[in-house]
Amino acid sequence: MMGSSVGKLQTAVEEIVDEMRGMSERGTVASYIPELACVDTKYFGIAVIESDGNVIVGGDGDVPFSIQSISKVFTLTLALGKVGNRLWTRVGREPSGSPFNSIVQLEREQGIPRNPFINAGAIAVTDLILSGHQPREALGEILRFMQFLADDPTVTIDQEVAASEHRTGFRNAALANYMKSFGVLDNPVDFTLGVYFHHCAIAMSCRQLAMAGRFLAQNGSNPSTGLAVVQPERARRINALMLTCGHYDGSGEFAYRVGLPGKSGVGGGILAVAPGKASIAVWSPGLDTTGNSRLGQIALEKLAKKMGWSIFGA
Ligand code: GLU
Repeated sequence: MMGSSVGKLQTAVEEIVDEMRGMSERGTVASYIPELACVDTKYFGIAVIESDGNVIVGGDGDVPFSIQSISKVFTLTLALGKVGNRLWTRVGREPSGSPFNSIVQLEREQGIPRNPFINAGAIAVTDLILSGHQPREALGEILRFMQFLADDPTVTIDQEVAASEHRTGFRNAALANYMKSFGVLDNPVDFTLGVYFHHCAIAMSCRQLAMAGRFLAQNGSNPSTGLAVVQPERARRINALMLTCGHYDGSGEFAYRVGLPGKSGVGGGILAVAPGKASIAVWSPGLDTTGNSRLGQIALEKLAKKMGWSIFGA
């Protein structure tokens, strides 16, 4: 019954893996987190999970990588579940048009970050999850949420990456301290940053990440349990934020080329959502100048085109 669409997707993924293997311009790994600078740009992985449960994995789709800012989709989901719309008093919903770690807007906008997906916004969201808990408990909650969504208890935190970023995360410390001075953070800055660095250091494969993103492609429900992770309206809104803010100051370009909600991380991963159709994860560590995976974006552009999945039509 689904033979032809499964076959079409399988062929599309195989073609993309082949093309990506032959690409010579692979971008540059993030070097400001020393541990990430050691990753080879040779990798390319992809996993697509269709709404009927069909799973296609290609290339290095089972190799774990540092999800970095992709974790911000899931911390936003958790924080909205905890504090609901009160979250929007701490963080905005507009694209920043600035680099992921920029500090300039914070001064003009009284310490309120533009959106939950730039570093400052994600630090503010992490602070909300932390309130009322010890850092260890908050981190455990985030990790268990990822394991639950991925349907895989082996998802873990790469402690070396977390320690590496802790040692060198002066810019994030500046953002957090600056927000604290405006009263935007409730908890001790060190605690909030510790939880933030650790959830960015969660390691997952494309397969695990695509599994975790399924609820966003399926109106908020988790197909493994049939239960709602979030209400359909919330899933729609998270997708809207991913489309408008998920690639920092490359968000417009990603919407133009790919036409899908997506969130990238400086580890080279991208989680993309074809609403009602599929959850997709790609990974290639080399980044472009906006900090987004170079091959990951090309692969998603090709996949969306081959499958006709852009939310804007053909
Ligand atoms: N942990 C990284 C940082 O805060 C995340 C950045 C990213 O993936 O965009 O710098």
